[in-house]
Amino acid sequence: MADAITGSCLCGQVAFDIDNDFRFLFFCHCRQCRKISGSAHIAHLSSETESLVWTRGQDLVKRFDLPGRSFSKAYCQICATALPYRSNDSGRILVPAGCLDGEPKVRHTARIFMSECSAWASQVGDAPTFSGYPAYFSNDDR
Ligand SMILES: [Zn+2]
Ligand SMILES: [Zn+2]
Repeated sequence: MADAITGSCLCGQVAFDIDNDFRFLFFCHCRQCRKISGSAHIAHLSSETESLVWTRGQDLVKRFDLPGRSFSKAYCQICATALPYRSNDSGRILVPAGCLDGEPKVRHTARIFMSECSAWASQVGDAPTFSGYPAYFSNDDR
């Protein structure tokens, strides 16, 4: 691969390489993506190459497909980290950005399905930021 990026799961048993050339990065705020991520959105990169190579632990990758919908998630069976999979819809490889070990090169970025976004999840871009925990995180400072 000319310009590859690596990804891996949190426990380190699964790893992969893929071309660092992604068409888009979507932050999807739909209800299903909130459920499956446990968070405000998923962050999926779309790859248009066929360059995905599992370098470790492919046999540990499990896949969930929601019955009746084109909605899927692949994950490490040990640590549950989200991992790449092929979309049943588009046929493209989708890569959860959080499992990459470096910075992806992306042509388009968007927050999508804002029509389904909940109030708490929409605060992601506006919440105050800290380099670590804010002071009110500790019990002695309420
Ligand atoms: Zn793992
Ligand atoms: Zn979604």
